[in-house]
Parts: sequence; structure tokens; C-alpha cells
Amino acid sequence: MGRLLEVEDLCVHFHTFAGTAKVLDGVSFRLDEGETLGVVGESGCGKSVTAQAIIGLLPRPPAEVVRGSIRFGGEDLLRKTEAEMRALRGTRISMVFQDPMTYLNPVFSIGEQLTDVILAHRTPGPPGALGLATRRWNRTETAEARRTAVDLLRQVNIPDPGERLCQYPHEFSGGMRQRVLLAMALAGSPRLLLADEPTTALDVTIQAQILRLLRGLIEARGISVLLISHDLAVISRSCRRVAVMYAGTIVETAEIGRIFRAPLHPYTQGLLRAIPRNVRRQQALEGIPGFIPDLVVPPPGCRFHPRCPKAMAVCREVKPRPVEVEAGHVVRCHLFPGADGGRGG
Ligand code: SF4
Repeated sequence: MGRLLEVEDLCVHFHTFAGTAKVLDGVSFRLDEGETLGVVGESGCGKSVTAQAIIGLLPRPPAEVVRGSIRFGGEDLLRKTEAEMRALRGTRISMVFQDPMTYLNPVFSIGEQLTDVILAHRTPGPPGALGLATRRWNRTETAEARRTAVDLLRQVNIPDPGERLCQYPHEFSGGMRQRVLLAMALAGSPRLLLADEPTTALDVTIQAQILRLLRGLIEARGISVLLISHDLAVISRSCRRVAVMYAGTIVETAEIGRIFRAPLHPYTQGLLRAIPRNVRRQQALEGIPGFIPDLVVPPPGCRFHPRCPKAMAVCREVKPRPVEVEAGHVVRCHLFPGADGGRGG
């Protein structure tokens, strides 16, 4: 499997009235062709900001990429112009967002929105135009795009796709709207799909259906996926590898089975203890005490130290480095030799 995406030492700051928030602090990971990598962590850990940085949708200002690289298919995305990124979005990298209602326009039918996306991806327009505002489509193009739209809706298991094209977003259920967004994301046949909490707004039954559908589409199309979720159970059903993120840093990466069997980082251990799997035995759920830190003034050293039950003196002073404990299992924690970069703390 070839390497598709490589994020290296990515640091993103947000300049706010309260000060500069160090939202991403040296994020590094890789994603291979055809692989699904899960990114898990509490809300506010920087998962969505990572995805936005990859697809070039960070609001600038206030966001600023202060360091790092994002290599996609060998090209550094951070060196691309906005016009180049616009050409790449949808056709090579797509994104599915959490709340489909926010991303569908309530005053246009599903068909109009989907065919616009299909036509925009097919026709090289001037930079920034997305094709929509600058050209009119002829009847043949529109009819062909409509056929493709029907086919896409069928692929995402929407019944009666021809009729559903004429309907509006409010006539679709939450799960159906998420399927439409998935169809839109796949319209340009991307190589990489960034799925940002795609099932969070859905109930568990629909969540399982969407995840099953996503897995089927990934296998059929051979695309790579970065699946972002705060829910380890969702990640475990869809991914072979997982990166655990805390306060802007990836603190542990390993195969999903290993994360469940032998989590090494205290934060990962806390996340696993918080999964409600002992409900039948009437055991109380354990949470992780405390809150995500204020990233304008993040804690020095390990950002998790104010909440960590195993914190030591070195944790408050020295930022831990990633240590490969065994092949493919990397952890950032001073409990493991080498994390202090040889200071001997
Ligand atoms: Fe806990 Fe220290 Fe490890 Fe951070 S480095 S997770 S504070 S033991």
C-alpha cells in the first residue's frame, strides 16, 4: 500500500481576542492508500481543525498554520494557492460534515444541489468559480448530471432516487440527509474522504447503517478515509488503525485491536474506561476528571498532566516526544523511556 497522506509536525494557531490559542501542537500521522484511519478524542481536541487544515478550509484569519507540512500524493498542500486547493477539493479530497442540515441549502431541491456539484467537478472553470456562477449548462450536460445524481443516490441506498431528487432537505430524515452529503462527497470520485463525526447527529440504528454504508463504499471505491469521532466504538467498527488526540496533539497511535487490548497512554485508558459497556453489570461509568485545557495558556510539558493520575514531575516541565513502543504502536508519554528526548527526567 502506498502512502497517500502524510501530516508532519502540524501546528495551527488561532488569533483570538483572548489571545493566541495553540490549537494544533505538532500533529503527525500518515494514511495509506485504501486505509481508514480513525482520529478519536474529546470535543475541542483539534480533530476537526486537522481535517480543515488538510482540505484547506481553515478560516484565515483567525487561523494560522505556523509550522509543519501536509503531503498528499507527494505534494505539499500547504504550498498550494487557494485556486489550486479549490480545484483539488471534491475531486481529490472530499469532506463529510457532522450536521447535514447545515450544509444543505433548504431552498434548493436535493437534485439541484447534487447536480450542481456533479457539473462543477466535471467542468474545469476559472479558479474560485466552482463552475456554478460562471457558466450555464446545456441540456445534455444537465440530463447526464441528473442521471449521475440518481446513480449516486442509489449507491448510498436512497429508495426511489429519481423521485427523491425533486424533494427538499426538510423532506429527508437525518440519516437520509447524511446519505445525500455522502453522495455529494463522492460525486467527484475523490481519493481521500475526510469524515468529520458523520454519525454523531444520528441515533444508534441509523448510525450503524451509515457506518455500514461507508465501509461498503470505501471497499468498492478503494478510497482512503480519515474518520473523525469522539466515539471509540464508532472508530472500532470502521478502522484498522486509530490516532488518539488530546489538546492538539496525537498522544497514541496503534492498531485498533491493540488500543482496546493494551492502551498505553493514560488518556487512552481513560477514554476506554468511559465506554458504556458494563451497563448490564450496573457498574458506574468512569469519566476523565477535569476539562480540556485553555489552549491560549496550555499547561507546560505534557498537556494532559493536570488530569493525569500518573503525572510525575517531568510531565509538568518537558513535552513528551513520540516513542515507538512496538512496531506501529507510538505513544507520547513520559512513562516510556525516550519520551523526554534523552534528558533522563
Ligand atoms: Fe501522564 Fe505524564 Fe504521561 Fe502526560 S506524560 S500522560 S502527565 S504520565
